[in-house]
Amino acid sequence: MRIEPQRDFGTRECPSCACEVAANHNRCPICGYEFPVAHPARRGLLALIALILLALILLGYLRLAHG
Ligand SMILES: [Zn+2]
Repeated sequence: MRIEPQRDFGTRECPSCACEVAANHNRCPICGYEFPVAHPARRGLLALIALILLALILLGYLRLAHG
């Protein structure tokens, strides 16, 4: 039985040269095509900024209400 370390990550087909590239590789080793990378962290950052802005607006409102 042969163990293939790339099996764990799976493969995806390169849209440029149609060869199979390991899913953990962001770049095709054959033609150099770069796979678009999703940024799940950016979404969290946007949510955080929105939350901070909301808190600032709320703080400003509370200040006005008390002043
Ligand atoms: Zn390729």
